[in-house]
Amino acid sequence: MLLTERIKLAIIREVFEKGVFDAKKLMEINREDGIFTISGLRSIIVGTLSFAILHEAAEKLAGKAGPAILRAQGEESGRIEAEEGWRKNLEKFNLSFNLHTVLSTLPVIYAAVGWGKITTEGIDMETGEGTIIIKNCFEADAILGMSGEKETPQCYFVTGYLKGLLEGITGGKFRVTEKKCKAAGDEYCKFEVRRVQRKGSLVTP
Ligand SMILES: [Zn+2]
Repeated sequence: MLLTERIKLAIIREVFEKGVFDAKKLMEINREDGIFTISGLRSIIVGTLSFAILHEAAEKLAGKAGPAILRAQGEESGRIEAEEGWRKNLEKFNLSFNLHTVLSTLPVIYAAVGWGKITTEGIDMETGEGTIIIKNCFEADAILGMSGEKETPQCYFVTGYLKGLLEGITGGKFRVTEKKCKAAGDEYCKFEVRRVQRKGSLVTP
């Protein structure tokens, strides 16, 4: 990694960690038309409980396919975010769009927008494999708040999102599995990330 790139990433991290970054500057409210955008992307602000409601509705209407629907929603969101959010913003700062750059700044950025406290130290910055930990994951807290503790991990949207984001950045295929979940009584949510070749077969080193 170039020295100038490393310095820029350190500045970005610092800006977010110290709370100097003002997310409001990226937001635009057009009251006349009732349109709200963040970094040019049409957005709405909804409470995290709507995720818990979506969980219940998906499982009620689609049964066992419910989690797969939520994962698919997350996966596509992650892929779009890689292109429309990460790629465009990193290019704006003249930074490389790759795993290393995204993983270096992802925890501070996602903490600033309320996703929870993400730790990426367990991830290999070159391959993207390893574990991602999220403390106070918004999806787990939403489920806990609405329906209490569950028997199995519940962060279907986030699981899909991480997969879509990693695939959008690298162009490769990933398998993301939630191994621990706050909504299932664990201290935090833990996601195992593996690369896959095709049709789900794991890449062997
Ligand atoms: Zn979870």
